Amino acid sequence: MSKHKHNKPFPNTVLTGGGMIASVITQQDVRELIAYCNANIDTFDRLGTKQGRNIFIPGNADPKDKAAKVLAVGHLDHYTGKLSCTGTMLTTPALDDRLGVWAICRKLPSMVNGGRRYDILLTRDEERGLSSADEFCKQADKYNWIFELDRRGTDAAYYGFSDDMWLEALGGDGWDLSTGSFTDICAFEEGSVSAVNFGIAYENEHTTACSVNFRKLGLQLQRIASFYNHYKDTRFAHDGMAYPRHYGKGAFKSSKYTSPYAWSDDYYDIGGKTLQRDIRDADMGATPKKKMIVQNLRDWSYVQDTSKTGGK
Ligand SMILES: [Zn+2]
Repeated sequence: MSKHKHNKPFPNTVLTGGGMIASVITQQDVRELIAYCNANIDTFDRLGTKQGRNIFIPGNADPKDKAAKVLAVGHLDHYTGKLSCTGTMLTTPALDDRLGVWAICRKLPSMVNGGRRYDILLTRDEERGLSSADEFCKQADKYNWIFELDRRGTDAAYYGFSDDMWLEALGGDGWDLSTGSFTDICAFEEGSVSAVNFGIAYENEHTTACSVNFRKLGLQLQRIASFYNHYKDTRFAHDGMAYPRHYGKGAFKSSKYTSPYAWSDDYYDIGGKTLQRDIRDADMGATPKKKMIVQNLRDWSYVQDTSKTGGK
């Protein structure tokens, strides 16, 4: 298979334009990002240690350095669809959240001071609302703070992590803040450390038009690297008992989320075919036939093995 891969690296990639990528994102970065989007989910096992459904990748800090550090989180599962790339933009539903995974594993380490000293947690099943981040709760409290790059646009979502010091740090760094509604890090809301989900500049997630503009991505990564550099040694405590839970057993009873498919930071008003919308509508009550269609859609779209299908 790997032999094949060298001959035809990205069979579903349409390269057009050939224009310059006028940002910190290089052509090599784009090639890597496309590989991350196309890779089978199990490919990521070898990047770190398997812990249940999660992959844990320790940072490159000096082993003698016992200081708490930062945790970066991304989810490996994704929706699939045609991938295409121009000189300025990549389009594929896999960007949510392979873009975030690529950024924390590959690009940010070259942009932050001292290389990648943060640990990485790669999760599964976020798109099904069953994020494996839940299995990491006990280990999360030792960090200074936690970040995820699993959000459209350029703002930052803080969920239940609304402690004053944390919001002041984010706001003071120039971030537009949103409450957000669900992602992996919500699993840590009852813990004692603050977390944030930074926008990673993709748009139209959960649709075939999911895309990212490379210049916007580069600027966003520079902001994230700058925040990290400034605050990596500061601990942002979180009062986990003071906030309503967004996630976990019973979460949907006590919160505004009426169904496990009614969460998420997804926007449904963008026109075109929104995959998640279909799933949600059916879960909110529909005919058996519609349910079946939605189940098929979910099977089709949920972490398809692109290495076997040739990316078609
Ligand atoms: Zn996502």
